[in-house]
Amino acid sequence: MFFIFGVGPKTKVVEKSQFSCPVCRTRSSYELRQQRQYFSLFFIPLFPMSKQKNTTVKCLHCGTVMPSMVLHHAQPEAK
Ligand SMILES: [Zn+2]
Repeated sequence: MFFIFGVGPKTKVVEKSQFSCPVCRTRSSYELRQQRQYFSLFFIPLFPMSKQKNTTVKCLHCGTVMPSMVLHHAQPEAK
């Protein structure tokens, strides 16, 4: 018997909302995604390898993926 194991990224959408996209310059929906490296056995992610989460924002209008800090930039107050 042998084991198939590896390390791979796992992405999870943690939030969906609206923002002013700096790329297409429209108010559009975004997905906030967290990506972590997971140790997997038989292609099943078992546990995270790193504590650090890589958070990205994807604009659903133009499809650009950018760092999550764009949400904290030039946002004229949500709500
Ligand atoms: Zn956009």
